[in-house]
Amino acid sequence: MINVTKSYLPDLEEYTAYLKGIWDRVYLTNDGPLLRELESQLKEVLGVKHLKFCTNGTIVLQMALKALDITKEVITTPFSYVATTNALLWEGCTPIFADIRPDDYNIDPNKIEALITENTQAIMATHVYGNACQIEQIQAIAEKYKLKVIYDAAHTFGATYKGQSILSYGDLSTCSFHATKVFHTVEGGCIVTDNDELAQKLHFYRSFGHRNDDYFSIGINAKNSELHAAMGLCVLPKVPELIADRKKVFGYYNDRLDFSRITRPSLTPGVEYNYAYYPVVFDSEETLLRVVDSLKAQEITPRRYFYPSLNTLPFTITAGAGELQSCPISEDVSLRVLCLPLYPSLAEEDVDRIATIVNETVAVVNENV
Ligand SMILES: *Cc1c(COP(=O)(O)O)cnc(C)c1O
Repeated sequence: MINVTKSYLPDLEEYTAYLKGIWDRVYLTNDGPLLRELESQLKEVLGVKHLKFCTNGTIVLQMALKALDITKEVITTPFSYVATTNALLWEGCTPIFADIRPDDYNIDPNKIEALITENTQAIMATHVYGNACQIEQIQAIAEKYKLKVIYDAAHTFGATYKGQSILSYGDLSTCSFHATKVFHTVEGGCIVTDNDELAQKLHFYRSFGHRNDDYFSIGINAKNSELHAAMGLCVLPKVPELIADRKKVFGYYNDRLDFSRITRPSLTPGVEYNYAYYPVVFDSEETLLRVVDSLKAQEITPRRYFYPSLNTLPFTITAGAGELQSCPISEDVSLRVLCLPLYPSLAEEDVDRIATIVNETVAVVNENV
């Protein structure tokens, strides 16, 4: 069985050493010593000013909207994981979908301005597959119209843009530390900002809005535990090695896939990539479905990611703007894109097998047209 991803697990002894400490201290959660240690190491590694370690990469999106008082229209991408749109809808905001760029599938800044109304408060964009959006152009639009910028940077751990962590851009940036991501804490996520006031707000939000025995404001429970922080402390030092291994696997695919009928998203100049995903785009959904069948027959499970285009989900229409907002590029790409298995320990022979199945299936489909 080969799955689209496989979580890295540290040596059990290393993890149990942290557990021993937790058992000794009987301090399990609520801003504990391991959580603080992890936050401090993450800030150091990422080179960011404020970082709050939370329970997952979805609740931090909701906290971002709350912290910036966003309740109305938000211009967002239809090409992301459903959590991006869910966070907007859950917070009562209206997602306004701007279509994506045909070359890298990130939100197209040239489509944003036409969608701005007097109700627009923010732009929420995803750095798709860990590759940076058009950050400067988005920032310029935000400044011109006084909009906030929130980045769903769930895929970007370890990736940099112009030498800085991609997480350091925008008013607020969020990451997921879910078991399937490049760096993980089993479940987890973080929110990043260089604004002191926002950081203070987020600190209180995370813990019910508590300020000592008093309350700062409405809050939520987004606290993560010492056991999750311990996993993070074990995985974090391995990240450079894990990314290097991913890069190797990436290279095996690049060498073996037949790109005459397969395309790949481009990388934004200035990005040092983290090799988070290996998406390939076929000429049609029919070809994609045939490839999926061929792979599954060999117990290989790729993933349609991202699918479907979020603007087409029934609840994003009913709970959103009330009508289908057309995003032809995203709708088209999401039908044809497939993420192939990619994880640090994936063997070269396995990539060889996967690439052969993909190439042969694509060739057969094309012979039959
Ligand atoms: C994984 C992911 C999320 C959600 O993160 P969780 O930690 O699973 O809640 C949000 N957005 C994107 C783009 C993701 O890939």
